[in-house]
Amino acid sequence: MIGFLEKDAKSSLSDGRKNLIWPHMETFRNYEEKALIIVKADGCTYSDINGREYLDGISGVANVNAGYGRKEIANAVKNQVDILPFNFSSYSASIPSLELAEKLINILPGNMSRIFFGTGGAEANETAFKLARQYQCLRGEKGRYRIISRRISYHGGTIGAMSATGFVARRHPFEPLLLNFPKTDAAYTYRCSYNHNHSDCGLEYARDLERVIKLEGADSISAFIAEPIVGFAGAAIVPPPEYFPLVREICDKYDILLISDEIITGFARTGKMFASEHWNLKPDILTMGKGITSGYSPLSAVAVCDKVVDEFSESESVFMHGITYGAHPVSCAAGISAVDIYRKENLAERSVRQGEYLRRHLKDLDNGIIGDVRGLGLLTGIEFVKNTETKEPFKMDEQVGKLVTSKAMDKGVKLFGGKGGEPEFMGDLLIVCPPLTVTEEQLDTIVGVIDDSIKDVKSSFI
Ligand code: PLP
Repeated sequence: MIGFLEKDAKSSLSDGRKNLIWPHMETFRNYEEKALIIVKADGCTYSDINGREYLDGISGVANVNAGYGRKEIANAVKNQVDILPFNFSSYSASIPSLELAEKLINILPGNMSRIFFGTGGAEANETAFKLARQYQCLRGEKGRYRIISRRISYHGGTIGAMSATGFVARRHPFEPLLLNFPKTDAAYTYRCSYNHNHSDCGLEYARDLERVIKLEGADSISAFIAEPIVGFAGAAIVPPPEYFPLVREICDKYDILLISDEIITGFARTGKMFASEHWNLKPDILTMGKGITSGYSPLSAVAVCDKVVDEFSESESVFMHGITYGAHPVSCAAGISAVDIYRKENLAERSVRQGEYLRRHLKDLDNGIIGDVRGLGLLTGIEFVKNTETKEPFKMDEQVGKLVTSKAMDKGVKLFGGKGGEPEFMGDLLIVCPPLTVTEEQLDTIVGVIDDSIKDVKSSFI
């Protein structure tokens, strides 16, 4: 039976209002022809206006970690709207923001002692960059302002975050606007820059960071930023175990702050509450977004370690940065509830189990174009190649990742695919990151649909 909401939305389709929206990362034509009107969601699925159900293989956009239809989070949001819908975070604090800050401090890696709340991931990274800059100034290091980042990376769509981003296609139109932020290797072992086996090159990748620091001059660098596991730009690139411990040492040696961008990897996504924990990494600043509220309300957070906090408190300095909707009480209420769910239901452990199951079955597929299956927990990536022996990538006009994604959608499974951060040098990518509550049966469906979709498109390219 069609509900009121659906009837209402259906009329909006016919009167052309869909075209009043500027789509994110999509041509007007594709959006017009293909964009669905989504009306409701439950568990790991959502349905469109015509009542068709889709299995959400990417958790919204890697954020709905606890799945849809969570009454606890919805009720927390409803209650908070009634009690206190807004608070200006400059001169006062709301109860939910205090509670969430405490909860986060208790589960974060390292010696984090303060949280700056914002609204989105890119903004969290911008905040981290400004913090790093102001921290260095307070230490008397006024020449330090640049951020080193990695070539295969995504840190957000705003100018500062994009300057750190290495994703070529996303940077390209804006190059003249971007800041001069140096880049280092992303520890991409499938195509090892050092022609080593997976286990041998972690230290070399870290030494590349030191090489870049020396080349650019440590006295111009305020911080280094890295996703512990590369998300959308690289389809779940996991570094060798020796990489981050040496990166930590190098940052300390040159007084460079280490920022861990956990916007995609945080909140149990990779099998730990935060991916930095896989290598006992203690970053100086850790940025969070996406899963912090499991998608129920916009929120991001920047956790800051004692060392940086002390510099501000000793000098009684103001951090020159404020955001109207930062620490929004309704979002913080959603965050408290989401974090409680992750912990109560031990979704990190479930993420490990289901992730291993998914990758085991993906590795069993035999269709000739899967070069690599990688990831940790429920952040899984596939790299498609023309030749699995030579790892030859598909050509730029052979949009295998996009086509597989599109075929999968026709079959009722939402995935994310396309060219990666360095498209000329890597294969096409497909990302699978369903809600952490996904069942084995749903994973079987995802694997089956990926296999069928590959078979559908393969004939055009091989
Ligand atoms: N950092 C990482 C690792 C991300 O994956 C993303 C988004 O995909 C961002 C930052 C930007 O977050 P947002 O889209 O909320 O600005």
